[in-house]
Amino acid sequence: MLVAVNFHYIRKTFDAPFPSIFGVTPKEFSDQLDILGKTAQFLGSDDICDIIDGTKSLPPKAVVITFDDGFKEQYELAWPILKEKGIPAIFFVNTRPIEENFVPTVHKIHIIRAYTPPERFLDILISILKNRGCSLTFPSKQKAKEVYRYDSEEDAQLKYFLNYVLNETERICVVDQCFEMLGFNERRISKDLYMTKKMVAELAKAGAIGTHGHEHLPLGLQDDATAKRDFDISIQKLHQWTGEKIVSLSYPYGFREACSIDVAEHAQKKNIRFAFTMERTGNITIDAPMFIGRFSNNDVPGGKNCIVNDEEFWTGLKHATWFRTGRK
Ligand SMILES: [Zn+2]
Repeated sequence: MLVAVNFHYIRKTFDAPFPSIFGVTPKEFSDQLDILGKTAQFLGSDDICDIIDGTKSLPPKAVVITFDDGFKEQYELAWPILKEKGIPAIFFVNTRPIEENFVPTVHKIHIIRAYTPPERFLDILISILKNRGCSLTFPSKQKAKEVYRYDSEEDAQLKYFLNYVLNETERICVVDQCFEMLGFNERRISKDLYMTKKMVAELAKAGAIGTHGHEHLPLGLQDDATAKRDFDISIQKLHQWTGEKIVSLSYPYGFREACSIDVAEHAQKKNIRFAFTMERTGNITIDAPMFIGRFSNNDVPGGKNCIVNDEEFWTGLKHATWFRTGRK
């Protein structure tokens, strides 16, 4: 059984005025590795390739540690802990932030929300849209709370507006404009937030780099040409920076529609051997290497939302199902 465990932010403190960036401290990360390591064996990229090739068998309890989004804090805070413990991991990086000092919309939203009250953020978004002649209605509190039960009314309305009222193009445009209006410096933030090419090269040398696309687009929702281009640029940049072969992919966002057979087949043609979704399941075998299920670190032993003990966790695991039966 393979359990893939994904991390994002790792910081010494999470003390922004409005909590919107969540993650682990180095101590929490280290403790969780110790908990997982008590029963499971850690695998790296080479091990997974060997299992796919049939030259190695999948241990009864195996864990692969992954990081998405290429944050510098992952290199600075997580990598030394992993090295010290001798645990392999795979860091999935986006190449455009590193190449062009760009910040993907998803991270701009995290940053704006961390420093802006939700009602103000929503007001700005709506006023930008009004200035453009769009007449979008303010989401009702009730509707928003139905979807985001655990958020405050204001947060629920903001999230509902961003994720359900706006389409992807509108979201990118208005969030970009809002980010600028609020005085955030994209170039400087990008430099602080993402790994450098040198860091990526060092991790790649250790077999610990995979692609997360160029721009952090939901690849399965793009037209064919856009998805392929985004993937191809990311691979080309990673080769250029590292001189290493890149064999793994983590679909940005990882929800079902963000993954696709077409993207998987294209990636395989470009030497990708395996890929992670965010289908929150274990993997009894690696029967569909381009659609390996993966948990958020919160959901596994040692994580904030894991309410079962280690034994119950491993015995209760289900196998991944996405894209197993044809093109669905
Ligand atoms: Zn991501």
